[in-house]
Amino acid sequence: MPQINLLGMDRTGLVQFFDGLGEKAFRADQVSKWIHQRGAASFDMMTNLSRDLRARLNVLSVVTTPVVADEQRSADGTRKWLLRLQEGNCIETVFIPEAARGTLCVSSQVGCALNCTFCATARQGYSRNLSSAEIIGQLWVARREMAKSAQQPQLEITNVVLMGMGEPLLNFDQVAVALRLMLDDFAYGLSRRRVTLSTAGIVPGIDRLRVECPVSLALSLHAPNDELRDQLVPLNRKYPIAALMAACRRYVADAPRARVTFEYVMLSGINDSAQHARQLIRLLGDLPAKVNLIPFNGFPGAPYRCSSEQDIERFKDLLYRAGIMTIIRKTRGDDIAAACGQLAGRFVDRTRRSARMQARSSGMIN
Ligand code: SAH
Repeated sequence: MPQINLLGMDRTGLVQFFDGLGEKAFRADQVSKWIHQRGAASFDMMTNLSRDLRARLNVLSVVTTPVVADEQRSADGTRKWLLRLQEGNCIETVFIPEAARGTLCVSSQVGCALNCTFCATARQGYSRNLSSAEIIGQLWVARREMAKSAQQPQLEITNVVLMGMGEPLLNFDQVAVALRLMLDDFAYGLSRRRVTLSTAGIVPGIDRLRVECPVSLALSLHAPNDELRDQLVPLNRKYPIAALMAACRRYVADAPRARVTFEYVMLSGINDSAQHARQLIRLLGDLPAKVNLIPFNGFPGAPYRCSSEQDIERFKDLLYRAGIMTIIRKTRGDDIAAACGQLAGRFVDRTRRSARMQARSSGMIN
């Protein structure tokens, strides 16, 4: 029997596991604290478990974490880790320190299958879903790496955003286990407000999240009408804007005081005119929303340019004057390609999209 990786089990899973061993439920709490709060990856460290139980755990289970293959540090303090998974594929995780918080940006898939035209991850194609252990393992590794550095005061992960590589709602089950661990007081103990899942708009996934694990929701909107959004986010042809907005209304109806964050990447001459702003205002209507304007981050071969600073400011002012809470997302870590849409990792693209793109740009096919 293969050994089971306890890193990726939420409390319910661990309680069942210990029950199967004839052990009481509080063992789950103890082991969860060891793994997620004290960073233990070896059962021998877990000194409040009996020697006999530790021996059995060593036979039946493991704590296997992703391995740091490379780290880059930005001049602004942002850190990016390239993490190697067991089969050799690599994903990226980014830590963004700010004055009063530290945000970890976590990946949910190896690559992405959605093919948004402005995103570097899309260029790389798609390989597979991450397991819950590989998702929560990104918090585990980031915490350990941060504890290693002598920086004072010690930086901490106060917020998590699922805004790295991949579409989290296309990997719902594994993501949900990882989310529960982020929220669990015996693991990372973050509040729902401080954990944000960002989606390109998988409507049934938004509804499941609302029922099963309602964390903060961010929606990658990027266009205020279907014609334009069909081009930028091809998923829109399956779940058009009206269906998305209805799902967002359901989401906040269940959670008083909550707001949906709408992400909107600023592409020069594409989606940044005053008319687009007015359409967006109409679309959001009275939905409790905030808008994050994201200056477009370039990558080699990108078919867009970022809107000018004046155009971004004008767009923001129009929304602001209509009473919509709007911020311009500060670009962080772009000197190490750690900014939004720049995460790429290294992996085998099972869709062969990256090969097709390369062939196209070298003129082999069109
Ligand atoms: N698939 C999910 C999670 C990825 S989040 C989603 O689409 O929401 C990454 C965020 O960065 C998304 O809002 C995405 O649209 C945005 N983004 C992608 N490429 C970008 C780029 N080149 N510049 C700025 N933002 C980008």
